[in-house]
Amino acid sequence: MSVSGMFRAPRYILAKAQRVVPLCKHPHVSWWVSSRQKHSDPRQYKAVIFDMGGVLIPSPYKLAAEWELKNNLKAGSIWQTILSGEKHVAWDRCMRGKLTFEELVKVCSKEGAANQTVDPVQSYLFDLTSQLHNPASPGMREAIQCIRAEGLQTAVLTNNFWLKGQSFLPVEKVHFDVIVESCREGVSKPGPEIYKRCLERLNVRPEESIFLDDLGQNLKTAAQLGISTIKVEDIATAIHELEAMLGFPLHGYVHGTQAVRKGMEIPTDRLKEYLQTTLGLSSAERLTLRQFSHGQSNPTYHVQSGDQQLVLRKKPPGKLLQSAHAVEREYRVMKALRAAGVPVPKTFAICEDPSVLGTSFYLMEYCPGRIFKDPTLPGLTSSQRRDIYTAMNRVLCQIHQVDLRAAGLEDYGKYGNYIERQVRTWTKQYQASETHVIPAMEQLIKWLPEHLPAHEKTTVVHGDFRLDNLIFHPDKPEVLAVLDWELSTLGDPISDVANNCLTHHLPADVPLLKGMSKCDLMELGIPSDLEYLTLYCDNMGMNPVENWNLYLAFSFFRVTAILQGVYKRSLQGQASSANAETAGKLAEEMADLAWVFAVREGFRIFKSIPAGNQGPPLRKYSTWNRQRSAAGFSSTTSLDANHSRHLVSVPKGHLIISPEGLPAHVQELYHKLTVFMDKRIYPLEQELTDHQKAENRWVPNPRMEELKNEAKADGLWNLFLPLETDPEIKYGAGLTNLEYTHLCEVMGRSLHAPEAFNCSAPDTGNMEILVKYGTEAQKEQWLLPLLEGKIRSCFAMTEPQVASSDAANIEASIVEEGDIYILNGHKWWTSGAMDPRCKLCVFMGKTDPQARRHKQQSMILVSMDTPGIKIVRPLSVYGMEDPPGGHAELVFENVRVPKENILLGPGRGFEIAQGRLGPGRIHHCMRLIGSADRALQLLKHRVKTRVAFGRPLAEQGTIMADIANSRIEMEQARLLVLKAAHLMDTVGNKEAASEISMVKLVAPNMALQVVDRAIQAFGAAGLSGDFPLAQFFGWARALRLADGPDEVHRAVVAKHELKH
Ligand SMILES: Cc1cc2nc3c(=O)[nH]c(=O)nc-3n(C[C@H](O)[C@H](O)[C@H](O)COP(=O)(O)OP(=O)(O)OC[C@H]3O[C@@H](n4cnc5c(N)ncnc54)[C@H](O)[C@@H]3O)c2cc1C
Repeated sequence: MSVSGMFRAPRYILAKAQRVVPLCKHPHVSWWVSSRQKHSDPRQYKAVIFDMGGVLIPSPYKLAAEWELKNNLKAGSIWQTILSGEKHVAWDRCMRGKLTFEELVKVCSKEGAANQTVDPVQSYLFDLTSQLHNPASPGMREAIQCIRAEGLQTAVLTNNFWLKGQSFLPVEKVHFDVIVESCREGVSKPGPEIYKRCLERLNVRPEESIFLDDLGQNLKTAAQLGISTIKVEDIATAIHELEAMLGFPLHGYVHGTQAVRKGMEIPTDRLKEYLQTTLGLSSAERLTLRQFSHGQSNPTYHVQSGDQQLVLRKKPPGKLLQSAHAVEREYRVMKALRAAGVPVPKTFAICEDPSVLGTSFYLMEYCPGRIFKDPTLPGLTSSQRRDIYTAMNRVLCQIHQVDLRAAGLEDYGKYGNYIERQVRTWTKQYQASETHVIPAMEQLIKWLPEHLPAHEKTTVVHGDFRLDNLIFHPDKPEVLAVLDWELSTLGDPISDVANNCLTHHLPADVPLLKGMSKCDLMELGIPSDLEYLTLYCDNMGMNPVENWNLYLAFSFFRVTAILQGVYKRSLQGQASSANAETAGKLAEEMADLAWVFAVREGFRIFKSIPAGNQGPPLRKYSTWNRQRSAAGFSSTTSLDANHSRHLVSVPKGHLIISPEGLPAHVQELYHKLTVFMDKRIYPLEQELTDHQKAENRWVPNPRMEELKNEAKADGLWNLFLPLETDPEIKYGAGLTNLEYTHLCEVMGRSLHAPEAFNCSAPDTGNMEILVKYGTEAQKEQWLLPLLEGKIRSCFAMTEPQVASSDAANIEASIVEEGDIYILNGHKWWTSGAMDPRCKLCVFMGKTDPQARRHKQQSMILVSMDTPGIKIVRPLSVYGMEDPPGGHAELVFENVRVPKENILLGPGRGFEIAQGRLGPGRIHHCMRLIGSADRALQLLKHRVKTRVAFGRPLAEQGTIMADIANSRIEMEQARLLVLKAAHLMDTVGNKEAASEISMVKLVAPNMALQVVDRAIQAFGAAGLSGDFPLAQFFGWARALRLADGPDEVHRAVVAKHELKH
């Protein structure tokens, strides 16, 4: 690795954000951007193309002239010979790679050898290839560096040849983005083809490029193609000309810098005066200023005055937030840390007088050394790499070990709750710049505050500690300076370690920061993040960090928030970097990565849950032996008098396997619910069932409205809406999925119950997507009346003509026309659509059949009274029509829907469907446990009182086996449902996907078995309408399809298994 002396400025990119989005008090927003800044010249040249001989290396013609002079040959004779007759053809072929240089020399030697002892052409050609090994002239080299520093591309376009098996190319390739060699291409200048190839590879138009060559014929073709040209006769003049065309200086290059950007100029005379009076610098020397490329928040300059090199860092010009860009803080912390022995650049002076340069600024030393931008440290041996990482770890510990009082930094920030404060800050920042829903961010915003570290140390934190913020000694593994102190404060030191390890988890192709997630770290000699953390803990003498994944989740969350800010401004055309848009688009990837770590942390917590060491004695965790209400007998009611005996509070995060383990307020709901079921639902059950068979069955039963009002008054309302969807408890009861599982199971004991509590499908799923994805207007129009139970809704996805278990198959169309969408499609099994109270249909169709498979679909909210919606017929399940909602076959014919009714946006339908698959779908499973439990209870009562062949049925071995098997299967299924719900709470629906699929398969099949046994034990009565068993059976069977066929769930589980 080459040693480059530099002080490199930090990468601050949200400077403008503080002015544009001043919502967040946090002043510092820093992240990396590429050093390639966009060229500001209005001409917008994007590339400079260099010929080789005569431009980058000495001209072969000039060399020939010198050679001729030295050897007393006639001027021009060498090239005259080469370019004549057979040799000319050979030369031409050699340029196009058809002949090697060695072969060319042989051809050129034939004639010469006959009449001269020394063949001049041969000797010249040998000389040519040996002499030309000089790199470009220093002036040209510096010009190229300056060009690249401004973000323009550079290319070599050369007529060259094969020499000793390689192409002859004596240039420093690292300085060029594109190299086009005639011997490789088979075409040569001045033919236009080779120019076109060069432009194509640069991906620029001819008028966006400049070509430098010493031969007029080569320039002529370039000019004919529309390329700007410079004839190189003398390097200095050519550079001068190029400088004028580009509009920025091509001298004074310092690594990591570029010309001072527009609007960032500094009055040099005033600076000169200040340097004279403050630092005693000579007035005679010329002051040269360049700006560090990465410095976008606080502009940072390289200042050269004679031999003196300094770095100047200032606040940006313009109106700023009071706390933003606090260069004074940077100066203070650097001074204090240096005094405490931490390697930071020496500071010289701070000027807070705005009359000097317009804003406060400070001066520090320019530290030459190595900066490693690539975390894999190419070019170093594995032991050198290990040493570099060890040195970095050591210096981080040094920072964290600084005695705050001794360093005078006690008041440099707040104490404690650092991560909590940061999460709040970045959440605000993110929300202020949100352009679209990033599901992982939504989850993190809820998840992070619930998983904050319990204990935090407070030390100086750097805030953006990374390998490329360090300057290393030119030869030794020693950190000379830590840069970028803008985000420093007092805080939790582990956040610095996590930030330091971000690159461990980023792939190499992240455009803005090279990661090493796919590298073999062991082979490279680089410690893994856990080894690095262990080293840190050892160096600090502290215990291992258990919640490391939380810190990584937080770090990536922060990165996402920053990138999202950049992205938003790039959309508004205010981005401060050419890479802003790319940066912003990465936001989603980073959020997903953050969520991966949150999930890992969730699993760690889940695995660390002690089995049964909290709460009531172990026996109480068994759900089967608790006293049930007498729900099996419509005539009897009894309350569980034992409820209050088991009120125990179970710590958050525990898998609560029985209602006795629920938090007190949920137990209260549970208790109220069982009372309501006993007192109001079971006694009315038969009447409600009878109404479903009556002639007026499609008219809602007024009894149900009464029940709804009573349940609402009892606070047993909208219990389904999970806390994760509704964290502020704006709409629902604020229960976790796990807590609701226990309640939902109780509701499942009667098919009529869910509606009474406004917890029935498909309204629950629809309400949840409206909460999650609906606009405020959509919420007002649909969500609120649904939440109030005033209207009902349906969900129209399935179509008769296609296999709808694969939602990508659906064919209904949603076609944009002006400010409306026109819907056409044939749907069936649209549950609830028959109900006269059904006012909303969530319709799924394709907006773009040409898009990627899962981007074709959209969901749109359709008012059921829109012209064009026709109900074809109600469908039935085993003859049961399930009125008044029913399951309708519908036709949508040119249904015109306002554009603003689209949910989330076109092409987002699949995404919403995935979101809908979570809670809404496992509710059925929860309820099925209740149905099965009720069936078993009915069975038990029946077999105890019914005698056949001289003894109660209960004494028959087969019946006992049925009872035992039913309980066993039910307990297994219940535990799996609880686990799925718990995982949804702790690690999210996506991660719980396998468990969700398992329960969707297990619960209906279990319920079918159990209910079937009950029906058998009841004899013919079991099939009748006198007991709920037949309906339970029909519904459980339907659910093996309605929530997706078993086979699809099995496929999800299997795929998950095969992946891990
Ligand atoms: C009572 C009830 C209510 C419903 N309510 C609604 C509603 O409100 N809204 C709505 O849009 N839809 C609803 N549906 C429809 C339900 O979602 C679909 O029936 C289900 O998605 C299956 O689609 P399909 O009927 O087109 O079956 P198909 O997709 O044709 O599948 C038929 C069979 O193919 C097999 N199969 C499919 N995929 C696989 C695979 N990957 N591997 C192996 N075998 C496979 C399975 O055996 C499956 O049963 C309801 C269905 C019922 C029964």
